[in-house]
Amino acid sequence: MSARQQLVILGSTGSIGVSTLDVVARHPDRYQVFGLSAQRRVDLLLAQCRQFRPRYAVLATEAAAAELRTALALEGLATEVLVGADALCSLAAEPEVHAVMAAIVGAAGLPACMAAARAGKRLLLANKEALVVGGALFMQAVAAGGATLLPIDSEHSAIFQCLPEDRSTWRQRIDHIVLTASGGPFRQRAHDTLHAVTPEQAVAHPNWVMGRKISVDSATMMNKALEVIEARWLFDLEPERIRVVIHPQSIIHSMVVCRDASVLAQLGTPDMKVPIAYGLAFPERIESGAASLDFLQLNALTFEQPERSRCPGLFLAWDALRAPAGTTAVLNAANEEAVAAFLAGTIGFTAIHKVNAQTLERLPPDLGPGHTLADLLDLDRRARALAGGMIRELAAR
Ligand code: NAD
Ligand code: MG
Repeated sequence: MSARQQLVILGSTGSIGVSTLDVVARHPDRYQVFGLSAQRRVDLLLAQCRQFRPRYAVLATEAAAAELRTALALEGLATEVLVGADALCSLAAEPEVHAVMAAIVGAAGLPACMAAARAGKRLLLANKEALVVGGALFMQAVAAGGATLLPIDSEHSAIFQCLPEDRSTWRQRIDHIVLTASGGPFRQRAHDTLHAVTPEQAVAHPNWVMGRKISVDSATMMNKALEVIEARWLFDLEPERIRVVIHPQSIIHSMVVCRDASVLAQLGTPDMKVPIAYGLAFPERIESGAASLDFLQLNALTFEQPERSRCPGLFLAWDALRAPAGTTAVLNAANEEAVAAFLAGTIGFTAIHKVNAQTLERLPPDLGPGHTLADLLDLDRRARALAGGMIRELAAR
């Protein structure tokens, strides 16, 4: 039997997926790629199959799968191609698999995350929307399956790196946590001109290179709202013990303020390979390929208060966490629809917040305490339908 860890990467053609394979390629003695997945990028998935020789590759449609099968056969590659969301769940729960990198964007990644959690995998979570939608149910699946949940979001990895391995000590030692936010590309733009922002301007992040959806979320600061919700579940903290500060240099990735007022911070260059390498090797440390900080090149580390007028979406996080279960799923669904409509040129930048706030107002969730994954996915569908109606109204104006 091979001593190497068998790894599945869900969303291997995205920004996080590609960075994960970059780290993995540096450690062929430790990791073997068991499965890869993409929605539709056959060319890149083929190149990844050529390099990493996975047992399985999953695509979203039969047409894309057929294209990949043909190309693999031409090159004599043995990867088996599977199709659809159920195949992702089976792959994530496959008995031979040790670790699953969840790097799909959006609630679409939730079922496969739940499958990996129930199967007791080492679950590397980049897909924050899955936890924002899944909430308590997600954490119950992690506990019931005996899974190890490792945060990949840089802020949550930072907090995790500042805490001892023994989770039972966390609540006792943490007074609060401070998530840092870069403030995105419009931090200094007059907020009454934000309505005119284009998708190209919104996805041009000053410090990080990321997928389009999270880049827009960073510009609206909805990304930080999702991260506040994510932190609530990952670290079992009441909403008031989660704070956000703008730190434009993105050098401090987040901080833990302890009961005794001591502050622990994790620093580094803004490169996702660092949290990815930590998630892969925890509790060990391995080479990530990221550059280390050059302190003499740093001018200053500065901090600002986020302003409600500039990023109203951020402030929805705490309200949604205090509202009935399922509210954060409604917020996430509205936001996914609104961001997609903005990127498609259907609505303006500031309309994203209007859609999110109005969907929350008009769809108070009615989930019982024993709600299931199917209930959450149904709520997600209803919220998307409602948000879609508002988007059509806004577009017609
Ligand atoms: P991306 O858009 O670059 O990649 C998304 C991946 O998911 C692609 O491989 C795509 O094929 C796949 N995918 C998309 N929709 C799918 C669907 N419906 N079914 C199956 N596969 C689908 O996104 P990204 O920037 O890599 O982000 C991935 C996740 O990681 C997001 O949840 C994001 O918030 C989180 N994250 C990203 C970064 C970053 O630096 N990029 C940092 C922190 C957290
Ligand atoms: Mg982050």
